[in-house]
Amino acid sequence: MVLITGYVKMNGTEINIKKTGFLKEYFGTIFTSLSSLLTGMKLTGYYFIHPNKIITEQYPDNRATLKMAERFRGEVTLPHNENNEHRCNGCQSCEIACPNGSIKIVTKHEISEDGKKKKRIDTWVYHLEMCTFCNLCIEACPSKAIVMGKKFEHSVYDKSQLVKILNKPGSKVMKEAEE
Ligand code: SF4
Ligand code: SF4
Repeated sequence: MVLITGYVKMNGTEINIKKTGFLKEYFGTIFTSLSSLLTGMKLTGYYFIHPNKIITEQYPDNRATLKMAERFRGEVTLPHNENNEHRCNGCQSCEIACPNGSIKIVTKHEISEDGKKKKRIDTWVYHLEMCTFCNLCIEACPSKAIVMGKKFEHSVYDKSQLVKILNKPGSKVMKEAEE
C-alpha cells in the first residue's frame, strides 16, 4: 500500500496528514482509460480492414438507394390504383380509433347505379402534425384502405402544410370495397 504523508499549518499548529492509496487510484484511472481506448481502437481497426461490414447509412447522400425497414411508420397513406380508385368506403372506423383526432373523414351521399343511397368519402383529412404514428387507425380499418408510408422528411416552415387530403381529386371507391 502506498503511503503519502505531509504537514499543513492551522492556527499556528502543524498537523500531520496522511493520504493513502493516492498513487494506486491515479495509476488505476490511467489503466482504465487506456484499456477503454484500446477497446474502441480495436473496433475501429476491425471496420477499417472489413469495410463491407460497415452498416452506417450515409444519409442524406444515400437518398437514391435508401430503403426503410418494412415496419417503419412514416405517415398514413391512402393508396390509389391506376384507375384512381381506393378502398375507403367512409365507415369512419379510423377516425374513431385515432386517440388524438388526427383524422377527419368528411362524407357525402351518392345515388348508386341501382338507385340506392350510398355513403362515400368527400374528403379524407389527415393531420400529420398531430399524428403519433401509433398505427391504431390502420389496424381499425376493416377494408385495409390505409397503410403506413415510408416517407419521413416532413419538415416545413408552415405547419398548415402538414394537413393533408389523402383522397385524390376525382377518385372513387373500388367496387369490392363498397359498403
Ligand atoms: S397513426 Fe395513430 S395518431 Fe396517427 S392518425 Fe393513425 S391513429 Fe391517429
Ligand atoms: S380508411 Fe378505412 S376505416 Fe377509415 S373511413 Fe376509410 S374504410 Fe373506414
